[in-house]
Amino acid sequence: MIKMTQAFQKVAAIRGMNDLLPGASARWEQFEEIVRGWLRGYGYRNVRTPVLEHTRLFARGIGEVTDIVEKEMYTFTDALNGESLTMRPEMTAGIVRASIEHNMLYDRPQRVYSIGPVFRHERPQRGRYRQFHQIDVEALGFSGPDVDAELIVMLARLWKLLGLTDVRLELNSLGQPAERAAHRAALIEHLEKHRDVLDEDGQRRMYSNPLRVLDTKNPAMQEMADSAPRLFDFLGDESRAHFDGVCQRLAEAGIEYRLNPRLVRGLDYYNLTVFEWVTDRLGSQGTVCGGGRYDGLVELLGGKPAPAVGFAIGMERLLDLWEQSVQMPAPAECDVYVVHQGEEAQRLAARVGEDLRDAGLSVIVHAGPASFKSQFKRADASGARVAVILGADEVAAQAASVKYLRSDAQGETAQQQVPLAGLADVLNIKG
Ligand code: ATP
Ligand code: MG
Repeated sequence: MIKMTQAFQKVAAIRGMNDLLPGASARWEQFEEIVRGWLRGYGYRNVRTPVLEHTRLFARGIGEVTDIVEKEMYTFTDALNGESLTMRPEMTAGIVRASIEHNMLYDRPQRVYSIGPVFRHERPQRGRYRQFHQIDVEALGFSGPDVDAELIVMLARLWKLLGLTDVRLELNSLGQPAERAAHRAALIEHLEKHRDVLDEDGQRRMYSNPLRVLDTKNPAMQEMADSAPRLFDFLGDESRAHFDGVCQRLAEAGIEYRLNPRLVRGLDYYNLTVFEWVTDRLGSQGTVCGGGRYDGLVELLGGKPAPAVGFAIGMERLLDLWEQSVQMPAPAECDVYVVHQGEEAQRLAARVGEDLRDAGLSVIVHAGPASFKSQFKRADASGARVAVILGADEVAAQAASVKYLRSDAQGETAQQQVPLAGLADVLNIKG
């Protein structure tokens, strides 16, 4: 006897990686539409780089002694050729790699953005996932504080477009490598004095990356971090002038900020301006956007030296905040839902659907056998503004009955018959 196939054990999604189903996804599309318009408004152009890159790109570009590279990357060996590959944990390194590889900065600076998934092996919780999405914006080849300020002003505009009020700006300057070196010596001295309060990461990074020790979320280390020598106090004239240039422009744009000397950001490559936008409405995962200047990265990754500044928005967190702050009706699935009864009417319905789409309407033609009553239920649930009804009478009259489904749609609430030839015109008068 032939053995029956064994029942397949259901497969669930990977922990920390979320499915976006139609309702939520519609919200994302709405959001992305606003975001793309906003980016166009500042002349940013889209780039799309691979999700997989050589591991050494991130080890080099993000820094070996960082949370991301030490413990958050999805790294594996390509079984076919033995190469070490990594799912991108952020987008900047890939975008900079691409700009070098394709000589994008050869004769002009570039304003580019990318939207998509990134991967970090973290403990999943609200606002922290293993696959999440970023809007990554990079201004490559610009050195002045005007562009730093423009990026921040640009973000303030996005919050306004989204109707968000309680996001605030934290700002700091990390100076230049020489200033960091002087500060580093003083900082190591401080850390040595407080060795007893350092946790395991702190002990380990004390000499390899002391600045990062201050970036700790460990409450037991806060006092030590607060009393540490401030990098800001080690800045020279040029770094200060750059910082002042940013601050002045923010003041002119009416944007408030808090100077946070503890703000050093999770990535190694930053210099001068660093900033974060934070909110209290998302619990402990309150940072919705982080960014800053990284003038050394292009050269570090093998390119001709070029300054750069950018930011990344965490989309899940921003959408969470948006939904909390702004009441929005769920977007409709279509403008028009076509219900029909009988085989001839079904064929006619398919044709009417195509005609209405020609006229620019979005149309769902009911599929599958169902009573008028249950078709109307589906029509209602779809959020359509209007139902088009085709039955034997309508086929005979070459007409359609039209029923407005929503009280906010202008016009008749009672059913009316419209000749097919004029149907698109009647329906296109939007409510
Ligand atoms: P955090 O301190 O919260 O770990 P980060 O400094 O590691 O953040 P960035 O590398 O600056 O984060 O990434 C930019 C933005 O991406 C963050 O400000 C945040 O909004 C979002 N983000 C970072 N990690 C996650 C995650 N695991 N899940 C969801 N969003 C995230
Ligand atoms: Mg992190």
